[in-house]
Amino acid sequence: MKRDGDRLIVHRGADISSTCFCCGQPSVARITTHLRRRKSNVFGRGVHSTSSIMLILDLLQLVLFFLMVLADIPASRKRPLTYGLCARHLRKRRLMLIASPLSLVIGVALWVYEFRNLNAPVYIGLPAAIFGTAMLATSGFLYFWSPGPTLVAEDPDLLWIKGYYPAPQ
Ligand SMILES: [Zn+2]
Repeated sequence: MKRDGDRLIVHRGADISSTCFCCGQPSVARITTHLRRRKSNVFGRGVHSTSSIMLILDLLQLVLFFLMVLADIPASRKRPLTYGLCARHLRKRRLMLIASPLSLVIGVALWVYEFRNLNAPVYIGLPAAIFGTAMLATSGFLYFWSPGPTLVAEDPDLLWIKGYYPAPQ
């Protein structure tokens, strides 16, 4: 395990669980995960679609992103990593990982309601659509920003990881 700027280089299957991944305090929990490839720029940029063509391109990019996530699942089996979290960051991670699917379910339920009641009055339909969209966005946000390692690069032996606590000065 060694550092490369703000990245951490580890072997596949490494165990770096002695200290908290987020703050470097002694850890209370070991978490073994299979790292997924992430394309953060899909979610990272703001909405800037001004025409319907741009909107369609954005939607296509989102669909491609989800296909890529699905296609990456078999490869992620070859990227095991065991990391640790302190009590505070463990609590934060659990909270976010519970809240994320919850927001997703609420968001989807609101949109299902929306499509099944297309002639509902606008004072019900509009808030449902806005709140539903907000819950879907929240779900993605919580999932992608929950404490834990993020894969940035890989080669046959090594993994480059982001999100590790800052190096001591
Ligand atoms: Zn911590």
